[in-house]
Amino acid sequence: MKAFRLSALLLAVLLLAGCAPKTYTSTFFAMDTVMELTAYGSGGDEALADAQALVEELDRLLSVTGEDSEIRAANRGETVLLSDSTADLLSLALGLCADTRGALDVTIYPVVRAWGFTTGQYQVPDSGTLSALLDSVDYTQVVVESGALTLPGGVELDLGSVAKGYTGDRIMSIFQEAGLTSAKITLGGNVQVLGNKPDGSPWRVGIRDPGSDGYAFVVEVTDRAVVTSGGYERYFEQDGVRYWHIIDPATGCPARSGLVSVTIISQSGVLADALSTALFVMGAEQAADYWRARDDFDFILIGEDGSVTITEGIEDSFSFSGDWENHSLEVIRR
Ligand code: AMP
Ligand code: MG
Repeated sequence: MKAFRLSALLLAVLLLAGCAPKTYTSTFFAMDTVMELTAYGSGGDEALADAQALVEELDRLLSVTGEDSEIRAANRGETVLLSDSTADLLSLALGLCADTRGALDVTIYPVVRAWGFTTGQYQVPDSGTLSALLDSVDYTQVVVESGALTLPGGVELDLGSVAKGYTGDRIMSIFQEAGLTSAKITLGGNVQVLGNKPDGSPWRVGIRDPGSDGYAFVVEVTDRAVVTSGGYERYFEQDGVRYWHIIDPATGCPARSGLVSVTIISQSGVLADALSTALFVMGAEQAADYWRARDDFDFILIGEDGSVTITEGIEDSFSFSGDWENHSLEVIRR
């Protein structure tokens, strides 16, 4: 009897193991960061190969430094007949620059370079240099005519604030077309998930503690992008002041809005990426107004003072983790 029970148990375990879909993972370096793609179920291996090829193609087209990049060619003053992908992303990005009233401005590149964020040779530019460069920071100067882009003298594009989010959306389309129903991708700090975990429960995505290597919170999500912009991601310090890579286009200086981390949760990766940068520039109050004016995202803000603010849409799926347990929380409502 005991032997029978044991073998029945063994059979059940084997059946369960047999039911679990196959896991496919691919890890590679692109867009200046480590990418990790995981897909479940049949067709996952081919979908991952297609996704990696797409990432490499988008990296080639969109990079500010790559030899074959359409963005780099346009920044050098050439007229560029845009690929469908670059045209699509540029049009989405320009729409979001307008919608955020220039808190996102994809023509910020000359200023980003003056601070040394492109090379790592960091410096604090003098105010004369900055105000001269700011004259050419203006996304309304970017016009695509009959599929061709020609930038006015001095104007240079940087799609670094939106490229990974857009790439995430394109990967999700590949996965869906392959018939997959469960996948998770991490593109640097951007996380995007398809469906739920293979066991049917929501994906759990950790969000970094700005002051340590650990996590501050976890959100449970289904079919969402979770994108964080943080002052801790890329920065330098001089005379005791920290200068980070998110620039306020109004001043040409690192955005000091009182926030140190902005996470956006949305079905759209490109929206989440654009808004993580833009709301960091706006600050908490404007971010809340902006959220009330739309219905397609939620946010988590961490202030310089350690305060945490979330929007009501993720109230039930949000939890603090590690050292942050029992931290106070403000929930913004419509
Ligand atoms: P993210 O990490 O998505 O917030 O993007 C930050 C990157 O976007 C920076 O490294 C810059 O290359 C660029 N960037 C910085 N400030 C802005 C801004 N206000 N609007 C658009 N792009 C920006
Ligand atoms: Mg961004």
